[in-house]
Amino acid sequence: DVLSAIAGVDVFLKDLFVGDDEHLKSALDRIDENGLPPASVSPSQGKFLYVLAKIANARNILEIGTLGGYSTIAMARAVGSNGHVITLEYEPKHAEIAKESIERAGLADIVDVRIGAALESLPKIKEEGLAPFDLVFIDADKENNVEYISWAVELSRPGAVVVVDNIIWNGAVLDEKSEDPNAIGARDALLALSADDRLETTVLQTVSWKGWDGFAVAVVK
Ligand code: SAM
Repeated sequence: DVLSAIAGVDVFLKDLFVGDDEHLKSALDRIDENGLPPASVSPSQGKFLYVLAKIANARNILEIGTLGGYSTIAMARAVGSNGHVITLEYEPKHAEIAKESIERAGLADIVDVRIGAALESLPKIKEEGLAPFDLVFIDADKENNVEYISWAVELSRPGAVVVVDNIIWNGAVLDEKSEDPNAIGARDALLALSADDRLETTVLQTVSWKGWDGFAVAVVK
């Protein structure tokens, strides 16, 4: 069927454009072994974030939602040895496993994993003068997407890129009556992005072995 064909193509693309990447694979293995949810971006999506960070010439990246550090590693590889990535994670266990994988990937000097609710960490990042960021990747609790988008703009320079993951949620965004907080979070994020005149935004639907979803990609005016 179509879904298994899509999954097959995704594996083919991963083999062609990501390959056997020791540290990315090890990050996924550690997520699996430790019972963390299988919620990392797919290999091709991780490569998308890496390529986007390179296009943006990003030196300072903010990530909201670390999990096991898979997307963190992908992006941290793009910023160069003088670059920085701050990644925010609520669950101490996730942060711990991410730190180990980031360390193994040789990126410990570049990446700062901050434990706590992102809405508490974000004002501190501002106070500490760690902004502006060149790229912000939003991929945490979808209920707070709208606030994260607002923070992303506040902490970014003009021309910065803001990416929001899981913006289509298997098409559930069309269902105005959905009670699924993830679907509501995705829909609210689309509406907020569309209404935000500080941003120019496009949304790309994606298919992968994880199903049907999408990324919002915005540039700060
Ligand atoms: N970006 C990761 C990747 O692609 O490798 C996946 C992140 S996963 C989809 C979402 C993560 O956000 C989980 O690890 C979850 O614990 C974390 N999270 C949930 N609520 C949060 C909050 N309020 N603040 C920070 N992180 C949160």
